[in-house]
Amino acid sequence: MNERNLKISIAHLYPKLLNLYGDLGNVITLKKRCEWRGIEVEFEEINIGDKIDNHDLYFIGGGQDKQQEEVAQELYSHKSELISQRDDGAVFLGICGGYQLFGHYYQPHDKDKLLGISLMDAYTVAGKNRFIGNVTVETDFLEPKTLVGFENHSGLTYLQGDTKPLGKTVVGNGNNGKDGFEGGRYKNVFGTYLHGSLLPKNPHFADYLISLALEKRYGEKIELTKLDDTFELAAHNSVIGKKY
Ligand code: GLN
Repeated sequence: MNERNLKISIAHLYPKLLNLYGDLGNVITLKKRCEWRGIEVEFEEINIGDKIDNHDLYFIGGGQDKQQEEVAQELYSHKSELISQRDDGAVFLGICGGYQLFGHYYQPHDKDKLLGISLMDAYTVAGKNRFIGNVTVETDFLEPKTLVGFENHSGLTYLQGDTKPLGKTVVGNGNNGKDGFEGGRYKNVFGTYLHGSLLPKNPHFADYLISLALEKRYGEKIELTKLDDTFELAAHNSVIGKKY
């Protein structure tokens, strides 16, 4: 299928509240890597009070507990429609605070539990320490296998049931600093603690997500044209294995 006749619809959920450490860069990367291939991008920013239409890909960034609280109530009101989007094959990427809300709940320090939308079987509780620093993850589904980014969270996330991690933490703490894993995946729902932003330095993961979103829309696997990722992979390789 010629990429020039393809389209992908992307929704950015609550960017005015959850956009910590440049998480907006993930949406810019997805849009650019489509546009560079001639794939049309329909883009919608979803803010508090907006309805959420069907999209091929949904992105939500991270934020401090206060912003997370504001978004959690609103996101919860869309839980059933987003679960049916998940079951319809839509792609989701959540970073840190957004990732935490993909689970059943996030329990902050000395505050009420924030209910998540249960896109994945996971839960998060605030830990005593803050995990801050670079992270290198080894996956079993990407080429190159590694994902790199920056973590800054106190939340400890625990995966359950059929929810699998993105990979093993080679450097850094990841989900909870104990089980040696980072991130979560269930169906086409992906969550991670990796800020940075993540996708500019992990172009192979960006393309993986775009491919899944196109497959959801067109019902078949579509081979993406290879892009020149010299700079992106140089940035990727400059972080691998380094804590700071
Ligand atoms: N408030 C959450 C935590 O500290 C998420 C932080 C973030 O999104 N970086 O774990």
